[in-house]
Amino acid sequence: MQHPAITRIDPELARLIKAEEQLQADTLRLIPSENYVSTAVLEATGTVLQNKYSEGYPGKRYYEGQQNIDPVETLAIERAKAVFGADHANVQPYSGSPANLAVYLAFAEPGDTVLGMSLPMGGHLTHGWGVSATGKWFRGVQYGVTRETGLVDFDEVRDLARKERPKLIFCGGTAVPRTIDFAAFAEIAREVEAVLVADIAHIAGLVAGGAHPSPFPHADVVTTTTHKTLRGPRGAMILSDESHAKAVDKAVFPGLQGGPHNHTTAAIAVALHEASQLEFRAYAHQIVANAKALADELLGRGFDLVSGGTDNHLVLIDLTDKDVPGKVAAKALDRAGIVVNYNTVPYDPRKPFDPSGIRIGTPSLTSRGLTEQHMPTVAEWIDRGVKAARAGDEDALHRIRTEVRDLMSAYPAPGLPV
Ligand SMILES: *Cc1c(COP(=O)(O)O)cnc(C)c1O
Repeated sequence: MQHPAITRIDPELARLIKAEEQLQADTLRLIPSENYVSTAVLEATGTVLQNKYSEGYPGKRYYEGQQNIDPVETLAIERAKAVFGADHANVQPYSGSPANLAVYLAFAEPGDTVLGMSLPMGGHLTHGWGVSATGKWFRGVQYGVTRETGLVDFDEVRDLARKERPKLIFCGGTAVPRTIDFAAFAEIAREVEAVLVADIAHIAGLVAGGAHPSPFPHADVVTTTTHKTLRGPRGAMILSDESHAKAVDKAVFPGLQGGPHNHTTAAIAVALHEASQLEFRAYAHQIVANAKALADELLGRGFDLVSGGTDNHLVLIDLTDKDVPGKVAAKALDRAGIVVNYNTVPYDPRKPFDPSGIRIGTPSLTSRGLTEQHMPTVAEWIDRGVKAARAGDEDALHRIRTEVRDLMSAYPAPGLPV
């Protein structure tokens, strides 16, 4: 992209943006929560819509001059409802964490019990984990996965729900490599009269593209970010049926937020338009095909994968038997031009800031057009990178970096200059 005004006014910052463009072009980005948005989404985020204050909702604002903003938000709402098959959509949450906080505000009181997957087992901070406001102001009770299978144990979830009687039950997470059984969670939530919240932040693009089952009609409320597999701007949405709509809207505004970020709303509308196209279905299914192919290649190279593989976009590698801590591997891979994050694995014997695993995913490489045929190469790079990390072989990491840059230069990323 050209940024002539920034270059003129703030060359120091312009240099940093240019450098980031180069980094995103040259590297193999495997962080499963990241992506490359389209040029159209990027354009929408940089518009004068951001100059406008619009507290309230379309037709019910606290400021005048909403002639264009109201239809922008209405477009985003209607597209969200159509793409996800929801009765109601709130597109104003600033990001995924505030969206989840709004759900607490809507359906629970401080001190109430909430049930969610624990962070080290793959859940999100905002599902009641202790250091989060959701764990400080509410009583978080946590379920996990079984040691043998790496899968949610629904007997455990049901027992906890019966014993603790939570107001909210969260399903979904940030390091969940398998299909979420929304129906099984719904049965438990109904039995204990809890509100079932499906947090589909990671998989929203897969749901939209038909590559993961829909949380509807099972979940009462669905929260999602818009910037992960959905490939929109950084933002979030809360989807629900009619019966939960009023409480959700009141919680987002005036409960938690002030004015919505209208430029983001516009970019969400663009992303949802893209998500309703046929090509998006192909993209969503290709993400899963790539992840499965990559998982198979890694298993073939002797890597230990949590749950033995993947059903979605995400692969969680347990490096315990490779004798390299996750952080050492992640930092070495970064020097090799392969960007991942270190991550806890279930029952991790190491500390959260120095865990045993790395988490990888295929959304970004799929957006650049890589397919199953490239996954043997990607797995080989990861294998060589981890071995080089253990051996402290900087030359080997440098050689991988050159190979990565060569391949990626043939697959230009959406939104980046060619
Ligand atoms: C990413 C994520 C969030 C939080 O989103 P932010 O936009 O980073 O606040 C919430 N829940 C899940 C499951 C996530 O993966």
